[in-house]
Amino acid sequence: MTYRSDGVLNRNDLDRLFPSEERMKRGPVVVVECVENIPCNPCAAACPRGAIRIEGDINETPSVDFEACNGCGLCVSACPGLAIFVVDASGKGDTATVMLPYEYAPLPEVGEEVTTLDRSGGKVGRARVTRVLNTEAMDRTPVVSLEVPRDQVMDVRHFARRSRRP
Ligand code: SF4
Ligand code: SF4
Repeated sequence: MTYRSDGVLNRNDLDRLFPSEERMKRGPVVVVECVENIPCNPCAAACPRGAIRIEGDINETPSVDFEACNGCGLCVSACPGLAIFVVDASGKGDTATVMLPYEYAPLPEVGEEVTTLDRSGGKVGRARVTRVLNTEAMDRTPVVSLEVPRDQVMDVRHFARRSRRP
């Protein structure tokens, strides 16, 4: 893997981590953007379908079986690196869904419009919040789903709430 001068992964390198277009058409699927050799494996432990594996040494990066993944999202909150997302571009409309970890307070509300950001914090566009999950089992890493334009589904990886007046 190579990085840009600002530490963000190159898109060409990211492409190698992505599920195929054909797999994405069939339903929600995980995207694991973890490329560092670090001793870490909660993602593998969290997946009930064995779709994420750390093979051999615990310092290895995860390998993903996109066919085994059903996009449930359980691994998203389990990752301490906030490196896991679930994307759903299987619909026929102009929009797609990105499920992402969000550790800021206050949490957004369903229906709220937010400003979407890419991996470097740059503005991508706008999106609507469609779901907010925050259970005890998620251990303070809530998961937020955003409805985004279909062509932004592999770019949106964070968001900012628009400033609100009291
Ligand atoms: S989204 Fe669900 S099935 Fe897919 S890798 Fe994560 S935990 Fe496993
Ligand atoms: S839990 Fe997250 S940071 Fe740790 S190995 Fe898995 S994807 Fe990488």
